[in-house]
Amino acid sequence: EKQHTGWNFDNSYARLPQFFFTQVNPTPGRAPKLIVLNEAVAEALGLNASALRGEEGVATLAGNHIAEGSIPLAQAYAAHQFGHFNMLGDGRAILLGEQITPRGERVDVQLKGSGRTPYSRRGDGRAALGPMLREYIISEAMVGLGIPTTRSLAVVTTGDVIYRETELPGAVLTRVAASHIRVGTFQYAAQYGTLEDLQALADYTIERHYPEAATQAGSDRTDQRYLRFLQEVIKRQARLITKWQLVGFIHGVMNTDNMAISGETIDYGPCAFMDAYDPATVFSSIDTHGRYAYGNQPRIAVWNLARFAETLLPLLHGDEEQAIKLAEGALSEFSTTYQNAWLKGMRAKLGIVGEEEGDLALIEGLLSLMEKHSADYTNTFVALTFDKLEESPLFVTPEFAPWQEQWQARLGRQQEERSASQELMCRSNPAIIPRNHRVEEALEAAVEHGDYSVMERLLAVLANPFAHALEQEAYASLPEPSACAYQTFC
Ligand code: AMP
Ligand code: MG
Ligand code: MG
Repeated sequence: EKQHTGWNFDNSYARLPQFFFTQVNPTPGRAPKLIVLNEAVAEALGLNASALRGEEGVATLAGNHIAEGSIPLAQAYAAHQFGHFNMLGDGRAILLGEQITPRGERVDVQLKGSGRTPYSRRGDGRAALGPMLREYIISEAMVGLGIPTTRSLAVVTTGDVIYRETELPGAVLTRVAASHIRVGTFQYAAQYGTLEDLQALADYTIERHYPEAATQAGSDRTDQRYLRFLQEVIKRQARLITKWQLVGFIHGVMNTDNMAISGETIDYGPCAFMDAYDPATVFSSIDTHGRYAYGNQPRIAVWNLARFAETLLPLLHGDEEQAIKLAEGALSEFSTTYQNAWLKGMRAKLGIVGEEEGDLALIEGLLSLMEKHSADYTNTFVALTFDKLEESPLFVTPEFAPWQEQWQARLGRQQEERSASQELMCRSNPAIIPRNHRVEEALEAAVEHGDYSVMERLLAVLANPFAHALEQEAYASLPEPSACAYQTFC
């Protein structure tokens, strides 16, 4: 007897002008096998997990079977990659459709690694198991940390071998996103499309993600909806980047195709979390100039948003000069939103309630001590939270005592009990991040030995990073010092 999987697809993207996509089916794999299924995501989507584990379910997740109601397509987009403009598009991803969830939400369901598309250029359209599991782990870690992100429904192996430096098992990740509309989608419309195409994309995106921006009625080009849209996208990105900075997340490849208009973190390639605090931290092997270094992320976000704003100029009110003024005004709000959110977040990490003039200097004082003494970013804040001041070499340096005195004095000037302050710190300082060596260990067990238990344990811990539970402590420790710095590859 066949169970209902629960696919409930609509295909609004396929109703946009044909210019924005190409219908293309995934390439079937030789022998699909389910590796990991995210039951929480399945349930939120209204999908039956045990049906997904069945033959037809796995075939759907591998691209071997097209579920009813799905219209598979590859999305067209362009991008600035490391500052250089290119035409891209989904080269190894295929949108199955938009699942309408039991709560009435519309989310993209996309296969990543499911074969070539018209946008594949010289790529093989494939993905290897290791990187797809890595995306699965890190995106779920982001969920635990409370950071907007695409999610991972499942990873399957295809049974095909793919060729990188070596032969690797091919895999498909099923990615779930508010949408996959990127800054690069707008760049594509502005560069290659008509004004009608651009407006169709803007109206579609506003309706899907920023309906409040359209509250002023009228579809004429002179109303303010596109300016409000721009302002809100900038605000969401500023808040997102703040969250990255507060936990030490380094995206690694903030090209404009990897910035989602919805405000979700998207495209986990060479990303990694910072250990020792250093704004210059870079993990990606291809980021040789540090363009996407930790400390550069806010600046890069503004640069990307400026590219986005440029695409909207023809839709903004007035002549070109006026439109540019409006766009510049909107862009200048990024730093206000970012600074306020960052200060608020940093105060919380130090247990500070309310605002004092000297708070910024206090925060910066700690960060510069951390940088000077290569203190672990995550663990320093945890040690401060629990008064475990023996736990970092930073705390025995002579410079630390005066900083600590200032901090204690600052806490002493607020009404809140020390316990309330500590609770705030517990909620604001994760005990657990996906430490690079832990992620590697999980991937090695999975890919080399077919042992998924290491990954399952890691995922369980990452689901509750603010629990500060004793049994999690092993996951907080740093790797053995090693001769070569950690590097990520995409
Ligand atoms: P990314 O660096 O993941 O943002 O990808 C940049 C572009 O390269 C996107 O258009 C991808 O679809 C494309 N791409 C990445 N890997 C492959 C591949 N193996 N085959 C085809 N296209 C790819
Ligand atoms: Mg990308
Ligand atoms: Mg990628």
